[in-house]
Amino acid sequence: MIIFGWRVVFFTLTRGTFHCPGCGGDREYRRRQGRNFFTLFFVPVIPLMKAGGEFVECDACHGRWNPAVLDVPTTAQLAQMPAMLLRLAIAQVLRSGDYTNAAARSRAVVVVRQAGEPGYDESALNADLGRPFDEVRVEMARAASALAPEARESILRAAAEIALVDGPLTVSEEETLSAVGADLELTRVQVTGVVSMARQESGH
Ligand SMILES: [Zn+2]
Repeated sequence: MIIFGWRVVFFTLTRGTFHCPGCGGDREYRRRQGRNFFTLFFVPVIPLMKAGGEFVECDACHGRWNPAVLDVPTTAQLAQMPAMLLRLAIAQVLRSGDYTNAAARSRAVVVVRQAGEPGYDESALNADLGRPFDEVRVEMARAASALAPEARESILRAAAEIALVDGPLTVSEEETLSAVGADLELTRVQVTGVVSMARQESGH
């Protein structure tokens, strides 16, 4: 007697780390997809149609999630975000003014180091200054939505302070601060408030 049938076999497409909504923390995951197989004596022998969509499975709790769950930043990524956003904000503002100004540059390096990137230096700053403007804007907008408003305001504040190191804000610096504020998802009122506080403090 020949016993035949079909069953679903799951394949792992990729692996990585994600924020598991089930465990509530950073966990390893497998991105998987099922495929129907024709079986002979319970052994899958012929692949048939794909069975259902892809899903993400947590290695710890084995919960299965829609792959959109991978868009949520992990706790580790979230911890790096303020420093990363700060770098980008500072680079945007610096290059809208005199980015060769030694005082502004060394202040920028110090601020980023203090924010949690001890290895940041002049060459890393040059690399940030050389990145395409639009690419930086997209990256900032994506990261900004994960941060609290206070954190986003303090990033803009730091960028404004650096723009003010070499004297009063130029029109171009002011425009860039507004654009960076918008990328940080701050309102016009918040941007104006943050920039004017930085101005008062600098005396320019
Ligand atoms: Zn889990």
